[in-house]
Amino acid sequence: METNTIFIKKAHILSPADHLDLTGDILINDGRIEKIGENISADLSGKSPEVIDAEGYFASPGFVDVHSHFRDPGQTEKEDIHSGAAAAAAGGYTTVICMANTLPAIDSPELLKENLGNASQEAVHVLQCAAVTERRGGQILNDLYALKEAGAAGFTDDGSPIMNEALVREAMIKAAEIGAVLSFHEEDPSLIGTPGVNDGGVSKALGLKGAKREAEIRMIERDLTLALDTGCRIDIQHVSAKESVELIRSAKKKDTRNLIHAEVTPNHFSLTEDAVREYGPLAKINPPLRTEKDRMALIDGLKDGTLDLIATDHAPHTKADKNKEFKSCMSGITGLETAFSLGLKNLVLPGYIDLNKLIMLMSANPAAVYGLNAGHLKAGAPADIVIFSTEESTTYDIFRSRSDNTPFKGKTLPGRVIHTIAGGRKVY
Ligand SMILES: [Zn+2]
Repeated sequence: METNTIFIKKAHILSPADHLDLTGDILINDGRIEKIGENISADLSGKSPEVIDAEGYFASPGFVDVHSHFRDPGQTEKEDIHSGAAAAAAGGYTTVICMANTLPAIDSPELLKENLGNASQEAVHVLQCAAVTERRGGQILNDLYALKEAGAAGFTDDGSPIMNEALVREAMIKAAEIGAVLSFHEEDPSLIGTPGVNDGGVSKALGLKGAKREAEIRMIERDLTLALDTGCRIDIQHVSAKESVELIRSAKKKDTRNLIHAEVTPNHFSLTEDAVREYGPLAKINPPLRTEKDRMALIDGLKDGTLDLIATDHAPHTKADKNKEFKSCMSGITGLETAFSLGLKNLVLPGYIDLNKLIMLMSANPAAVYGLNAGHLKAGAPADIVIFSTEESTTYDIFRSRSDNTPFKGKTLPGRVIHTIAGGRKVY
């Protein structure tokens, strides 16, 4: 019979949200943390747990990704719930929130319940956002209340900006009423030539009119104002431009109700538009990678709390969808498996933030924005844990995801996920 009890021995336990930083043990029973602390092995009498010797490794709350695309239903050749959950586990993630831009879009309680039912047996906790508008068309508001009752983790038309301001206001009023989070992909298509490349030096060299920074800035400005006006809790997705960070920073100063939140992807804090020259379609994402000035502004935003959390925007695509000319290939980079390494390499090792802060940005902070019971290691908490090394490195040549569309394929990056425990089970 599968054992339900796991004993993690001699880990460096790091749970910044609980002010925990010690070498000790964790006893897991029936999906929960039963005991955590220094040398608790004396309490094991009568139990024969599976023992994980974690000496030399860290144990932290499992990572939480609030922005993943599992392509299920509709494009399961790119990813399905099962392969997506496996990719998450390999990356140290124990909870993921999937976006609603599937085929069809998740815009009805029936579809939502079906997806959540399919996800319930997976290795990690797979949650699901519902679309804000019918078919993500930006015109007709969905029944947010019914969708929330059916289990929606939040609402977003991610992939498609909602241009109809009156409708956004209506959605925010409704979301505020029912206490839901609205998440926004901010890019005005009228200011975008070829999407996925910054309108600047690199796009010009490629003979393309790219995505102007104003496409993002103006929509963020609109939605910050609307959120403060309506009292709606919002999450600005994948922020890319320096001016956006500044707008969010000043809006947060006026935000006495903790309404405004924002995400950064590992892509945007690791790469610039130069990656488009180097990797072509593999570096095409929406909104695009921008300049070094922008990248540093994002890092400053993470440092001072303007940007709340790291979200992967894990966006798998087949080789056929990527191996095309830049103009016509799909946008997106897979991200669940490389996120932690990129955080170490580009945020912690250069000294911008410490390891505790990285863990906060990848677990307790995203959990708090979406009201999830995750991001903590303490007695009674769900046993969602990542065991990792900062000394060892990982060569990213094999992916659990069904797709491997990332500029980091084949690269050796610092850090290694040793084990992932979700819901009290060792899933990686
Ligand atoms: Zn998006």
